[in-house]
Amino acid sequence: MSDAVPVTVLGLGEMGGALAAAFVAAGRPTTVWNRTAARADALVELGAVRAGSVSEAVGASPLVVVCLLDYAVAREALKPAAGRLRGRTVVNLTNGTPTQAAQMAAWVAEQGGEYLDGGIMAVPTTVATPEAFILYSGEERVFETHRAALEELGAAKYLGSDIGLASLYDLALLSGMTLMFDGFHHAVAMATSAEQGSASGFTELLVPWLTNMARLLPAFAAEVDAERTSRTTPQLTQGLDVQVSGLLNIMNASRDAGVSTAPLEPAMAALEGLLETGHSEWSAPASVRQLKTT
Ligand code: NDP
Repeated sequence: MSDAVPVTVLGLGEMGGALAAAFVAAGRPTTVWNRTAARADALVELGAVRAGSVSEAVGASPLVVVCLLDYAVAREALKPAAGRLRGRTVVNLTNGTPTQAAQMAAWVAEQGGEYLDGGIMAVPTTVATPEAFILYSGEERVFETHRAALEELGAAKYLGSDIGLASLYDLALLSGMTLMFDGFHHAVAMATSAEQGSASGFTELLVPWLTNMARLLPAFAAEVDAERTSRTTPQLTQGLDVQVSGLLNIMNASRDAGVSTAPLEPAMAALEGLLETGHSEWSAPASVRQLKTT
């Protein structure tokens, strides 16, 4: 018999199913619940226990991991088990906003439970592999109590007691990813306008290029931090005129190739905004500051 703390997983979609499978593979007693009960079949064969209701599922373990479509669904699903949350910890790995995290934390606290919010930086196939990491926020004591179980899903990264931090960082990481993918789509549309070559051949060049450029980000980040703490560091700048003329070339070549310039227009507007506010040089802190509306 395992002496590991039992866990319950609510939600056995692509991601919830992968999380539950990781707990089972780690030898942890795992109870599972899903609206469509049949989605638990494969997990039950592996050793998980199927609960007949959310209430029964919550009652089975001191640690309850939630991974459902969204916070509204998670809240509705938990409602019938509200009376059983006292003394238990809910770890909500459903994707949502910091405001939703704070509301869910308050609701769980009203029921007498403890709460951690999380953001999964993995896809189902990379859960429990070295590639996966999961962000957590909430009380550190609660995180430390359950750290061993949470590490079974992927590296557990505790961000701080501000309950909204995990979802804020999760969504900010997804923002970076979204804009990178948009850049990939535009670059491939340009490159494949030529008769010779292929998207795959072009991407063999794009990946090392973007990898090299990504290596500049820690230096840019240090400059942003220096500005926030009033330290001074030499800034990595480039003339805005050089940036504008390079971007104009990209846009003109894009039009000539019959490719929309729409994904590039916000970048041009940002450069123009810097010029209008008196900047002659591009720098990461100025660009970040420019995006903030408050
Ligand atoms: P799926 O669509 O595969 O699963 C959705 C889950 O929500 C299922 O368990 C589904 O139950 C349940 N559900 C949906 N509507 C209801 C409802 N009205 N009442 C009760 N249960 C409901 O999504 P994923 O597993 O991929 O995603 C789950 C969460 O994980 C999301 O917040 C997502 O953003 C996050 N995530 C997903 C990643 C991924 O790569 N897939 C990566 C990182 C985070 P049923 O089976 O009955 O339909």
